[in-house]
Amino acid sequence: MRTMEKDQDILSLYQEIILDHGKSPRNAGIIEGHDCRSEGKNPLCGDRVTVTVALDDEVRIADLKFDGKGCAISIASASMMTEAVKGLTAREARMMTEAVNTLCREATSPDQIVKELGDELGPRIEQLSALSGVSQFPARVKCANLPWHTLMSCLDGTGVVSTEG
Ligand code: ZN
Repeated sequence: MRTMEKDQDILSLYQEIILDHGKSPRNAGIIEGHDCRSEGKNPLCGDRVTVTVALDDEVRIADLKFDGKGCAISIASASMMTEAVKGLTAREARMMTEAVNTLCREATSPDQIVKELGDELGPRIEQLSALSGVSQFPARVKCANLPWHTLMSCLDGTGVVSTEG
């Protein structure tokens, strides 16, 4: 069992990771010659994000970038997403999106979610554990989910998601 003190340490570590991605976002910008592009808005907070994706011959995400304006959580979540889903199929990206949604909404421990996702996706979701800190701030859940939902609508637009079975 964790002590209170340890929980505090983990929360401040999560906060540091989010602030770091918020300040120095990875993969910011627009991919020229992208395969799909989607824009998302979260009017509640004023967050806006544009996601562009380039697919490879096997219809995996070869590259993705985001261009956004918004709160630190929306930018951090977008930045972390661009690192976490590279190389995945649309179906796998959807599993990641659902896992992030669970991370942000519930008090489910990240460890449990990592275990459920298995060997391939588990380690990827582990890198996103910091987003579970958002579950303490229900108003921010939409901020964290925005880039992921935008990625889903981007991939849906190509018809790639129809491979989901
Ligand atoms: Zn926001």
